[in-house]
Amino acid sequence: MLSGSGGNVGISIGDDGVLIIDSDFNSTSEALLAALKELGGDKPHFILNTHWHGDHTGGNATVGDHASIIAHDNVRKRLALKQPKEALPVVTFDNSLSVHFNGEKISMIHLPGGHTDGDSVVYFEGSKVLHTGDLYFQGGLPFVDLKSGGNVASFVTNVGTMIDKVQKDWVVIPGHGGLSNRQELIEYHKVLVDSVSHVTKMKADGLSLQQAQEEGLPSKFDDWALSFVDDKFWIKTVYSSSKFN
Ligand SMILES: [Zn+2]
Repeated sequence: MLSGSGGNVGISIGDDGVLIIDSDFNSTSEALLAALKELGGDKPHFILNTHWHGDHTGGNATVGDHASIIAHDNVRKRLALKQPKEALPVVTFDNSLSVHFNGEKISMIHLPGGHTDGDSVVYFEGSKVLHTGDLYFQGGLPFVDLKSGGNVASFVTNVGTMIDKVQKDWVVIPGHGGLSNRQELIEYHKVLVDSVSHVTKMKADGLSLQQAQEEGLPSKFDDWALSFVDDKFWIKTVYSSSKFN
C-alpha cells in the first residue's frame, strides 16, 4: 500500500510486472511513479479503479499511459463525462472480473450502491489482501456519495459482505487511513450499524434534521467523527439516504 494525497494505492509487483489499485490525484502521479520505481517496478500494466472519484482515478492518464485500466461499467460512464479518453477504463464489467497476474488470482467484485454506484473491492486470494476502496474509511465515519448512487443501507450491507469474505490473517487496505485488518473492519461495521440505528430512531421519533444534528450522536462515537464527515454530516447523510426516507 502507498499513501499519497488521495485514496490509498494497492500495489502488486512481480515477474509479470506492475498492477496498481487506484491512481491517486493527478498531482501525485510523479511521486507515485517514483515510488513504484523505488519498489523495483516499472510503469503499471494494469490499473484497477475501485470507483470514479478523482482522488482514486486522477492519475489514470499519466500513471497509466502504458496500462489497461479496468473498472465497473458505471466508473467508465461517470469518468467519460469529465475525463479524456486516456483516463477511461478500457475493460469494464458488471458483477466481477479476475486478473491472473504475478502468480495469483486478483478478483474485482462489484458491491452495488454503497459509496457510489460503481464500487468494486479487490481480493488478492494468494497474498490474502483486500482493497476496500471507499467502503472503508479506517478509523472514521465514511463519506457516502448520495449524488453518485451511494446509499447508507447498502453501504453497511457491503461492509458486512467484506467481513464475511476475509479471514483474520488477511491484510485490509482501506480507501483512506492506515493499513488495517478484519477485526478493525468488524469494529467499523459495528459503529456504522449503531450510529445509523441511533439516527434512524431520532428520525422515527419525529426529530427534524436540525433537531437531530443539535442532539448529535452519543459520546462513544466522538473518536469516529474527526474527519470532514463529523457527526452532523453523518446525521445529514443518514437522513438524506433514500432507503431511510
Ligand atoms: Zn471516494
